[in-house]
Amino acid sequence: MRESCRNRRTIRPAKRCAVDQSGEMKTYSAFSLLQNALTRNRNWSPAWQDVEPKRTYDVIVIGGGGHGLATAYYLARNHGINRVAVLEKGWLGGGNTGRNTTIVRSDYLLEENSRLYEFSLKLWEGLSEELNFNVMYSPRGVFRLAHNDAQLCQMAALGNAMSQRGIAAELLTPPQIREIEPALDCSANTRWPVAGGLLQRRGGTVRHDAVAWGYARAADRLGVDIVQNCEVTGIRTTNGRVTGVDTNRGRIDAGNVAIVVAGHTSQVAAMAGIELPIESHLLQAFVTEPVKPVLNTVMIAGAYDGYVSQTDKGEIVMGAELDMYPSYSQRGNLPRIEDIARYTLTLFPSFKRLRMMRCWAGINDMTMDGSPIIGITPVQGLFINGGWCYGGFKSTTGSGYLFADTLANGRPHDILEPFSLERFDSGRYLDEVGTGPIPHLH
Ligand SMILES: Cc1cc2nc3c(=O)[nH]c(=O)nc-3n(C[C@H](O)[C@H](O)[C@H](O)COP(=O)(O)OP(=O)(O)OC[C@H]3O[C@@H](n4cnc5c(N)ncnc54)[C@H](O)[C@@H]3O)c2cc1C
Repeated sequence: MRESCRNRRTIRPAKRCAVDQSGEMKTYSAFSLLQNALTRNRNWSPAWQDVEPKRTYDVIVIGGGGHGLATAYYLARNHGINRVAVLEKGWLGGGNTGRNTTIVRSDYLLEENSRLYEFSLKLWEGLSEELNFNVMYSPRGVFRLAHNDAQLCQMAALGNAMSQRGIAAELLTPPQIREIEPALDCSANTRWPVAGGLLQRRGGTVRHDAVAWGYARAADRLGVDIVQNCEVTGIRTTNGRVTGVDTNRGRIDAGNVAIVVAGHTSQVAAMAGIELPIESHLLQAFVTEPVKPVLNTVMIAGAYDGYVSQTDKGEIVMGAELDMYPSYSQRGNLPRIEDIARYTLTLFPSFKRLRMMRCWAGINDMTMDGSPIIGITPVQGLFINGGWCYGGFKSTTGSGYLFADTLANGRPHDILEPFSLERFDSGRYLDEVGTGPIPHLH
């Protein structure tokens, strides 16, 4: 880490993308839907091919979540590099991509975060069209609720910072909020009276599985190999340079390897002898039975750092803080669910009549300053994209786009430069919430 290597060796662009030749994969359209309905679905082709891994690639992406698949897609689409394999130990999107609460927004105070998340949000806006796959981006608005004067001042400062950067935000009074969200208890007698709220109207939700499937289909179409049930068990290096990986399906050589494994970043980086400033914690979420539309926006409550929204199916989705002890179990504890339910009912008393249907947990890699680590590593040709803490889903688009650029050129993209691993040596931390080096508090 201290040597802060600059990986200048660039990857040779492919001469031609597979999409030029294939034409096998059908474009989704109203017409193709009708055609398939009439032919009883006989013409549906798989969204991506199930391939055997080759012996060698230009780039291996470890991890078939949204970030890994987006990286592979943009490598092929923006840089013409399609001798790429995405190696996934389970199934696509089975990690945090399929476990998150689908919230996307770009309401960040620090300039560095703001640039990354706003870049990502702009990509979400056109993603369905770009991928020819409906990712169900729903810009329904994200509210950050303030429950006292101090929080309201923070919201005002955040709103001003956003506005100065050209990112629209509105500070609303309780009656204005209630007009948008009639189910929210805005009375003065509640445990956490609502003092106001900051609304980013372009924020909202995106269907998380569709993001993984859409990127996988589009990457496959550009010639990327997507290999499921392929666990990376070792990273091969020679003289400080990566040469490939060992997997449960054999050895695969590559000049460049990208670690994009969310909750397992420390474990996989350790295969190359890299120790990371990360602690892995559980984060839970749950949904109720589906009901008719009752919530119009996404609500993030400053009182307990919880969030609540309604899916297109009608379920109410809830989440809040970590379970507060490091774990890789992907199963959470009941007390945290009880807390979240109790807090949410304080704000939305009518939800007490709903029954909880499902709960789950994901592993969040929490860094010491609460911001992700993306870029080069001390091992030549080995790149890293992880430590997304609570909020990596919203940056899937931008992270994939900019990380692909970093891989293709062997140096961090300008927007990613502040997110380097090296910042923990130089002390240039990115602590958005200002809680210091206590990972579970970010
Ligand atoms: C409950 C919960 C709610 C969340 N809500 C939000 C939210 O609302 N908004 C938001 O922005 N973020 C949210 N997040 C965070 C977000 O989900 C993640 O930051 C993001 O999805 C990470 O994406 P990824 O592609 O990097 O990881 P993943 O989707 O986890 O993909 C990594 C993949 O790597 C694979 N892998 C691991 N080890 C290996 C190996 N050795 N070999 C091969 N493959 C391997 C895993 O199987 C996994 O599929 C939430 C997280 C959780 C847990």
